[in-house]
Amino acid sequence: MSEDLLSFEPATGAELWRGRISDIDAEVATARAAWPAWAAKPVTFRTETLRRFADRVKADGEQLADLIARETGKPLWEARTEVESVANKVDISIKAYAERTPNRRIEGAMGLRNAVRHKPHGALAVLGPYNFPAHLPNGHIVPALIAGNSVLFKPSEKTPAVGARLVELLHGAGVPEEVVRLVIGGPDAGKALAAHPGIDGLLFTGSARTGVAINRQFADQPGKIVALEMGGNNPIVVWDTADIATAATIVVQSAFLSAGQRCSNARRLIVKQDLADRLLAEVKTLAGRLIVGHPHADPAPYMGPVIDNEAADGLTESFLILMSNGGQVIRHMTRPDANRPFLTPGIIDVTAIPERPDIELFGPLLQVIRVDSFEAAIAEANNTAFGLSAALIGGTPQLYDQFWANARAGVINWNRPTNGASSAAPFGGVGLSGNHRPSAFYAADYCAYPVASSESDALRASIGVGLRDDDTPKLVTKKYL
Ligand code: NAD
Repeated sequence: MSEDLLSFEPATGAELWRGRISDIDAEVATARAAWPAWAAKPVTFRTETLRRFADRVKADGEQLADLIARETGKPLWEARTEVESVANKVDISIKAYAERTPNRRIEGAMGLRNAVRHKPHGALAVLGPYNFPAHLPNGHIVPALIAGNSVLFKPSEKTPAVGARLVELLHGAGVPEEVVRLVIGGPDAGKALAAHPGIDGLLFTGSARTGVAINRQFADQPGKIVALEMGGNNPIVVWDTADIATAATIVVQSAFLSAGQRCSNARRLIVKQDLADRLLAEVKTLAGRLIVGHPHADPAPYMGPVIDNEAADGLTESFLILMSNGGQVIRHMTRPDANRPFLTPGIIDVTAIPERPDIELFGPLLQVIRVDSFEAAIAEANNTAFGLSAALIGGTPQLYDQFWANARAGVINWNRPTNGASSAAPFGGVGLSGNHRPSAFYAADYCAYPVASSESDALRASIGVGLRDDDTPKLVTKKYL
């Protein structure tokens, strides 16, 4: 007998959704059987179907935003921006498909030509995270469908309702039900899907721990495409600037947007020693003014809760560990309601901790490191196994050049937050943040593979050397010197 999966609203604890755990074998069989017919349709058929999906998302925008806000706890205004990204993804992906995977013909002599075209992989599994339950899986699903793949989408077990709604919208727009399958389940379902011989690849967004496990699982299957979008321990460096107030605003946005639950949030503020006190005073004041509250509250909050009590407990514990290891508290991370996962922004100076843990603390917790030289700032920025986003605030064009050249990350910004990346650019990281298959504009690259063909309208062949006049077998013995 199969079990149910339940989801709850983080802000209230109320049950939001329940659904049956999926039968993985059956879902994979359906998606596998469906993809050749979908792939055989003209690409314009697929893109028009997805344009209808974008229209439906826009028409249904308020309900979808409401569901995202309820299921993730993110403020309604932010959920609305996620819905906008979902709808905009279609045009961006159509453009990316044309630009990144175009058909090419290279004409040769005498009617010979070389052609480059792209083919879909087949049935692709998409595993989604909870923090952007619609936008991020959608960033794999839409390009995968445009390229002609079928999709098995397993949303996070914490946000199945949004996943189910996304799939309904795709079906409603005309994507055949067999071509996009909703797979309900937790990590076990993810593991089973990843291990299934019937999938042709897996497109993952989630934590480095899971991504590494998946990478290991595919180690002996080089023929399957695996795209891993993982977390970060992202640095934001503040250097010479007279505009401390704006620098503080960028730091606060980088660290606390989405209650620190974006992969691109800044986790580590690296600041020039002689600027630190002034900057930190501003950051502390501004962080203290951020409204933490229910996603639908009025006035609107800046931050909602983190995803669940377990996440809030883990973050509180991490803050206490940093404190007990010698961290100096700048602003305590507090939990105004002991029963719900609301956290106020926490800021802690960890300069004195010699062995700082290189882990992604996925919540509103900013660690501060003071440095004396720009070289030390870059060394600190790179003092991580991750490499997702990094930002320099202040400095000069020369310092930015140096930062850009030496920072190891897939997103490197200047005077801009670490987060809020454009979907019109590639998005991905190095090190533990990704496996060099960036998503967003470059998702087209991993949704299809190139096929090179040498072609001629007429048969034409000749052997120009090494032939004798008759066909009597004879060994040539004379050696050439
Ligand atoms: P997670 O790794 O816990 O889960 C992601 C998905 O993988 C879920 O669907 C989950 O059920 C599934 N899963 C879990 N264990 C699995 C296993 N062993 N095998 C197969 N599937 C498994 O991630 P999360 O907590 O939902 O999301 C937050 C994380 O995602 C953060 O680390 C964040 O930085 C990262 N993230 C990265 C990006 C990016 O684009 N790089 C974007 C958003 C979030």
